Amino acid sequence: MNYSRFLTAVSAARRPSAIRILTELQQRSPPSLISLAGGAPNPDTFPFQFATIKVKNGDSIVFDEATMKRALQYSASPGIPELLSWMKGLQKSLHNPPTLAYSPENGQMEMCVTTGSQEGLCKVFEMLVNPGDNVLLDAPTYSGTLAALLPLGCNIINVPSDQHGMIPEALGDILSRWDPADAHAPGSSVPRVLYTIPNGGNPTGASMTAQRKQEVYELARKYDFLIIEDDPYYFLQFQKPWAPTFLSMDVDGRIIRTDSFSKILSSGLRIGFVTGPKPLVDRVVLHIQASTMHTSTFTQLMVSQLLQDWVWRRLTDLYYSRQVTALSRHHMTSLFPPLPVGLAEWHAPAAGMFLWIRLHGIADTKQLIMEKALEKEVLLVPGGVFNIDSSEACPYVRAAFSLSTPQQIDEFAQQIQGQSPRDSLVCHILSYCGHSLRQLPA
Ligand code: PMP
Ligand code: PLP
Repeated sequence: MNYSRFLTAVSAARRPSAIRILTELQQRSPPSLISLAGGAPNPDTFPFQFATIKVKNGDSIVFDEATMKRALQYSASPGIPELLSWMKGLQKSLHNPPTLAYSPENGQMEMCVTTGSQEGLCKVFEMLVNPGDNVLLDAPTYSGTLAALLPLGCNIINVPSDQHGMIPEALGDILSRWDPADAHAPGSSVPRVLYTIPNGGNPTGASMTAQRKQEVYELARKYDFLIIEDDPYYFLQFQKPWAPTFLSMDVDGRIIRTDSFSKILSSGLRIGFVTGPKPLVDRVVLHIQASTMHTSTFTQLMVSQLLQDWVWRRLTDLYYSRQVTALSRHHMTSLFPPLPVGLAEWHAPAAGMFLWIRLHGIADTKQLIMEKALEKEVLLVPGGVFNIDSSEACPYVRAAFSLSTPQQIDEFAQQIQGQSPRDSLVCHILSYCGHSLRQLPA
């Protein structure tokens, strides 16, 4: 793979930040090293001394004074070494990417820690997308992706999708307007990037089958484009075995995968990770050097200690028993038969936290949600915000069931009883949801 043709001029122009290199050198040196180099502040002057963080299973994470000093200090841009090596082990055991066997010049797998997967995504887009480039994705899609992509001035090509995600035949049709032989020609308009959310899509809840991934991957090989696999709901798949990922099929080194701890450990700690070919991940790290410098050392140490102490099995047990997955698995799959009177329809998701509901008889849900429902403090998102052009009419709403209790849903449904027909439509849907929630085991 020749990655240089994928890089924007800005990304290609990035050079290592001199002091960041010293910080990384220092991190790899023995503690006896006397460094007068990096501009690190003296942590003795910081007010925080030590910490004990209780974990829900009764364990504790203890930051003694020395660890606390490290947690409060600058650290290397790719991530702290113990967390990085833990995550590399995890990726190997979950996905065993074929690129692991490759030489460094040829797309050897690399990883870096990011401040949530959103940071990774934004930096990956800025590394790869030029104004005017054709970018493939299956809309409706995560609004944070659109927020990062649209200002880059690219031309987004929407690939048709259904409840199993992107449709490979439809992608093939779109691509057939180009000659694959032109992909490498200077100034070629053949798309060089495809973005997709393969599991429990936000907002659609759709999950791609292994077969579809393989077919999309073959098209990527034919037209020589990269695939950005944004998979924050990977760990929230309801069925086992979990679906094979694009990363696990990546014989060429054309997958950049973003993972997130937001939905399984904490969204507020802001931690995720990027996995992909080394030449590309190195570019993301250069961007990190110049922006956030690194994800909070405190956050990384806390997460790292949690993960070192736990075997992976216990972690999966933990979130399998947690509310998000339990709620989602029960009432998104078995407890949601289609609504009785044709008011609305949806597909039961196989992963994630979202139900994508089409309201019949409503051309656009924006006013319904942003005015009527917001007055009543309802937590639904009008579907239009996930469209490439957010001003387009959209008959869908996105419901996330990760936070609401049956009581909250009941309360809302009661509040809007007897309002206008449109309100009572929402009311009907919500009381139906509430009914389903009540059937859950405590
Ligand atoms: N600006 C200047 C002039 C600095 O010296 C530094 C840190 N050495 C920064 C910005 C970055 O600071 P922060 O750690 O808050 O990102
Ligand atoms: N990608 C998708 C598809 C998401 O739904 C989200 C969060 O909602 C993110 C990325 C951002 O996750 P993080 O909190 O790791 O930045």
